This record gives sequence, structure tokens and C-alpha cells, in this order.
Amino acid sequence: MALRMSTLFLRTLRENPADAEVPSHQLLVRAGYIRRASPGIYTWLPLGLRVMRNVETIVREEMDAIGAQELLFPALLPREPYEASGRWTDYGDNLFRLTDRKGADMLLGPTHEEMFTLTVKDLYSSYKDLPLAIYQIQTKYRDEARPRAGILRGREFIMKDSYSFDIDAAGLDRSYQLHREAYVKIFDRLGFDYVIVQAMSGAMGGSRSEEFLATATNGEDTYVRCGQCGYAANVEAVRVPAPAPAALDGLPAAHVEDTPDTPTIDTLVAHANAAVPRADGRAWTGADTLKNVVVTLVHPDGTREPLAIGLPGDREVDEKRLGAQVEPARVEAFEEKDFAAYPTLAKGYIGPGALGLEGTAAIRYLLDPRVVEGTAWITGANEPGRHVFDLVAGRDFVGDGVIEAAEVRDGDPCPTCGHGLESARGIEMGHIFQLGTKYAEALGLKVLDEHGKLQTVTMGSYGVGVSRAVACVAEGNHDEFGLVWPRAISPADVHVVVAAKDAATHAYADELTVALEAAGLEVLLDDRAQASPGVKFKDAELIGVPTIVVVGRGLAAGEIEIKDRRSGERRAVPVAEAVAEIVAEVAG
Ligand code: ATP
Ligand code: MG
Repeated sequence: MALRMSTLFLRTLRENPADAEVPSHQLLVRAGYIRRASPGIYTWLPLGLRVMRNVETIVREEMDAIGAQELLFPALLPREPYEASGRWTDYGDNLFRLTDRKGADMLLGPTHEEMFTLTVKDLYSSYKDLPLAIYQIQTKYRDEARPRAGILRGREFIMKDSYSFDIDAAGLDRSYQLHREAYVKIFDRLGFDYVIVQAMSGAMGGSRSEEFLATATNGEDTYVRCGQCGYAANVEAVRVPAPAPAALDGLPAAHVEDTPDTPTIDTLVAHANAAVPRADGRAWTGADTLKNVVVTLVHPDGTREPLAIGLPGDREVDEKRLGAQVEPARVEAFEEKDFAAYPTLAKGYIGPGALGLEGTAAIRYLLDPRVVEGTAWITGANEPGRHVFDLVAGRDFVGDGVIEAAEVRDGDPCPTCGHGLESARGIEMGHIFQLGTKYAEALGLKVLDEHGKLQTVTMGSYGVGVSRAVACVAEGNHDEFGLVWPRAISPADVHVVVAAKDAATHAYADELTVALEAAGLEVLLDDRAQASPGVKFKDAELIGVPTIVVVGRGLAAGEIEIKDRRSGERRAVPVAEAVAEIVAEVAG
């Protein structure tokens, strides 16, 4: 059945909504696809729902093609499984928690690892049942700290999540690869530019994890790419190549120097060059200094812990990289009152001597990978106006571990080939991830292997942001006049505009619509009696169906007009050939 604009539940807006900053958000609201219900929560209007269903169809087809089976879990879930996996606490404020009438704790599912794991445990008991891949397309809930850009980052959103279950690592690799190939097909079909980047694999480490990022200059994710070898990684996952440790023998002894009024790296470097020149004649730079940054970690259970990070003074701590390393803890500033609680820390002059679990302040001290054994640094001497020179890592101080928290800069060496990296921004559209045995272990998912022994099942987890994809495609496909949908997910194949008021033109447009539908096309018909042709043309451009057909004045001369929404090209076509021409146009 054609969508008739005369009755379609739709009102387009000429003005951008006040709360919308990015084009996809502005246009999806203005063109009547979505409507805000509350912050980060949106209603899908008929046109929007059609686009989302088209995305779902693509995702479903590719999931089914790799043999994954669809099911549907509830969104409203009991606390216990999430307690067993640790996520009731670890999810922190992002989890929507609620209580039923009997006082039992419940939650709205942010993802469903626990439920999938438990259901497989319920039903399967032998290696012969594996491999298994199951998925759902379902509403997820996350009380995001910063809902953004309409449906791009919502508090309620639609996700396809699938999980694979295998008896061993080789099986997991195969399941992962199948999903990876399916994702390539999904994102190719959806019609946006994307990159596949290495992602954080979380606390477990080692296992594969990749993200599919839509390239977008206003994206929230930063990734780096190497033009030489093709390495690409989310900036969170970049591992800085560490220099080889150097011998300690023969290095000069550390010495403390007066460095008055040098609380910043720039003032320190200037002072060092003037007052303590290097023996080798080279000038000191910020990279010769070791900056010790103290932050507060807030753990999911609310406990606060100071953490010190030692990194080259010419680099800043990257909030996202640090955040990804310390998850599920949150990072907060180390404030004046915190300094007061740790009087051994001299603000602006903090040195390794006051840090480390073996140090006096008992503050966990993690070092940048560049701070390897045998490197010598200028760093704080733990008293105002004094720094220590030639303080050697591995000889004069050690850290409690290594942390990847320093900013990655354009031109930094690629971890694979050493060539300079370049950074760009993107939006996370999908994530594939080898979970391993984390959930199977926590929830006791074991099956009998071929020798009759119980084996913990190994799992993969694979997500696609279905509702986010709608925003993302809109973000990548619009112009100053409105949306320009790729054919694969457009709410209709053709938008027929009736650009005259007389009954004959309307009657012809109806006929044409019936014929187009008989030819298998979905038609949006602007048959509104009151709207002027100008208003209809504007709405057609705003709504963004890729092919617009104008039935108007030309009809008297036996012609209609076909317009390509993207290029703006128009051509007149004789009525007798209208259906064939439109079908050919839509077929591309
Ligand atoms: P992000 O880093 O963007 O918060 P995430 O890594 O937490 O995402 P996953 O748990 O990997 O997300 O979820 C799988 C997919 O679901 C993501 O790749 C993304 O496309 C989508 N998604 C996640 N959070 C949201 C949200 N708040 N609104 C819309 N889509 C989302
Ligand atoms: Mg992710």
C-alpha cells in the first residue's frame, strides 16, 4: 500500500529543533522520522520506523546467512545473573535499576551476555551441540551520562546483539571470522564509509576485538591509521611501541637542583636550559621531563583511590585512553582537598619518590611505556621549587606497572611498522569481540567434551547499533535541503509528487502509483490537496527518497519528470514509458 502524504502521520518542520546540533538529528526531526519523548529517548514515527526496519532486514539477512538464529530476550531482567557476572555493580550509573512490587531488584538490559549464557546453559550440555550462534534485535537501555545527537547516543536504543558459543579457541576464531565477514556485508549494504579498527579487549586482554567505525568528522571516537601498513586502531587501543631498555652502568648519578617558579613543563625546560645545560650540548625538551599526574579513580562500589601516572612531560593524559584502561572505574580530578589528604605530594613538583605502593604516600604509580629501564629524566623532587635531574628508571625509581594513557599524536610511530600515524574521527557502528570464558565461567556454562570431561564454553559477542545506524546513514547522506537516503534503506523507492490541483492529474498519479507498486516498488505519494507544489518539492527534498517523480504541468504534453535527489538531475519522460523508466532508475 502506498504511503499517502494526505493521511500519513507526519508533520515536517521548517526550523531546526533547538536541542539539535548535528545535521542527522536536525533533519530526522524536521523530516518527521523521529520525535523526542524525553532526553535521549525517541519515538519512531512511520517514516523513521520504515528506515529502521530496512536496517533490521539487512542485519537479519546477513545474520541468518551465517547460520545465526534469531530469538528475543526480555528487556526487563532479574538482578541475580548480573550480580553473578559483576555487572550489576560494574555498570555503575549507566544501568537502569528498578524494583518490583515485591521488592525484588530488576534492571533494564544494557546488553544480554548473561541471559544468552544462562539460556545456553539451560538447554545444551554437549560439545556436539556446538558451535552455536544466536542473536536478537532488541531495545537496550543505558542511562548514558551524555545522551547526544538524538538517536546517535540514546538512553533507549535498538541493538542487534549476537553471541557465539564454541568448545575451543579455534572454534571461537571461526565464529568470529564469520561474524566479521557478515559485518562487512552489512555495512557495505547500509551505505556509509567505514573503517575496521582494533579495539580495546578489556581486562581479559589478548583476545581479538574490532570496531566498525563510520568515518565522521564529528564522531566521538578517535582512531589512528597507518598509511604504510594498514594498521588501524581506536585510539583507546593503541599500544605505544616501547624503546628497548638500556644498560644502567655508567649513567650519571641523580642530582637535585633548585628550579624556582617552574610549576609547568615549559617553565621547567626554559630554566633547565639556562641553568643546568646538558653535557652533550643538546637542549632539554619537554620529552626529557617526567610529568607525574595524579587523578582519582572512583570504583563502581563508590570507593575512591588516587592513581599517579608518570609520562613524558610533552604529552597530556588522554582522558579516553585513561578511561578505557581503568574501566569500570571512573576518573575524577584530584582536587585541593585530596592534596590536603596526601601532604607528601608537592603540587607541581611531584616526583616518583612520593609515589608507588612502596613509596611513602602509597599511591599506585603507573608509567608510560616510554619510561623504560635506563631512561633518565628531569622530574619533581617533591618540594616546591626543586627538581631532580638524571633520575634513572629502574635504578632510582620503579612504577607499579605500565599504563597506556598518554595522548597519541599524528606522526607517532605505528606499532606495527614504525611509519607515522594519522588520526581521524568516527562513530562506532558495530563491535565484534572475543569474550572468551568470562561469562561462561561466571555463570557456569560448561559442556561435556569428546572425552566426557566438562569444558567451559568460549564465547564471542557481536553488536550492531541498529537505531544508531539510521542516524549515521543520515549523517553521511544529506545536503542543505535535506536527507538523501541510500536506496537500501530509504523509506520508499519513489516519491511521487502531484504538482497540480486538478482531478485528472491526481487520477493519473494514482494510476501511476498502482502500476509502480505492481512493478514491486514502494511509493510515497504526495497527494495533499492543500499543499502548494513549492511546499511539496521542499518536503520531498527534506524527506530524501532518492527518486522523485513529478506529475504536473507536463502531463498535458504527455510527460512526467524524474528527478534524482542526490545529483538534482531531472529528465522528462513520456507517460507511456513512465513505469519502465522509473523502475530502471530505481534499479540503478
Ligand atoms: P559507545 O562506546 O559508543 O558507548 P559501546 O562500546 O558501549 O558504545 P557496545 O556495548 O559495544 O557499545 O554496543 C554495541 C553497539 O551498540 C555499538 O557499536 C553502537 O553501535 C551501539 N550503541 C551503543 N550504545 C549506544 C547508544 N547509547 N545509543 C545508540 N547506539 C548505541
Ligand atoms: Mg563497543
